[in-house]
Amino acid sequence: MKTPPTSLDLNEVAFLFDVDGTLLDLAPTPREVWVPASLRDSLACLSTRTAGAVAFVSGRPLKELDLIFTPLQFPGVGGHGAEFRRTGEHAILQLAVELDSDLKRWLPMATEIGPGILVEDKGYSLALHYRLVPDKGPAVETEVRQICAKLPKAMIEILPGKSVIEVKQVGFNKATGVKRLMRHGPFASRRPLFFGDDITDEDVFAIMPEFRGLAFSVGRKVAGASGNFNMPAAVRDWLQQICSS
Ligand SMILES: [Mg+2]
Repeated sequence: MKTPPTSLDLNEVAFLFDVDGTLLDLAPTPREVWVPASLRDSLACLSTRTAGAVAFVSGRPLKELDLIFTPLQFPGVGGHGAEFRRTGEHAILQLAVELDSDLKRWLPMATEIGPGILVEDKGYSLALHYRLVPDKGPAVETEVRQICAKLPKAMIEILPGKSVIEVKQVGFNKATGVKRLMRHGPFASRRPLFFGDDITDEDVFAIMPEFRGLAFSVGRKVAGASGNFNMPAAVRDWLQQICSS
């Protein structure tokens, strides 16, 4: 597999990006990510040249993405499908209810395993990050699974990610969010190109054929992907090339 060509018809395609590990290098903690100025420029340029068909599809809340990429604001899917925003709008549509309050009290107990495990409450989900203490990953996962076993399986799902384990309600994911996004302009009439690196992105890889779309993986080769970038910096370089062509 190789990287996609830089000669794209920007009147026909839409760009859908996972953020962490795809556009941005992973940082020791989620708040420490850094956006190179060149990436801001590329995204702004692509958005203009595609009439607004650039979206994020992230596990992060959209407000957090707004802060990270300020002053840029993109449409897209936040919180693994819990949030949605259309092109040109500031308002964020909430599509999910809060995670069970008992779970929110119980899950942070996994931090008792040792220092360096961070809790992030996203409202509709709760994430435990162990990037600072990678060897604690298996213990965190075991603890999370034990805590979740107290509730009926039909209600919640556990999302393993890169140095993170997240618990959310069932009923939405990145793919349900992308399906919604693709019903609206300017995406509806375009061919989506989706870029993602993690397990939760594979739901979106699976639905790309429904939209004549193509999926590209970052960092690892994934079945069903049309191409692969070896790291986020390679994605950023490719975007810069498209904008300068
Ligand atoms: Mg990612």
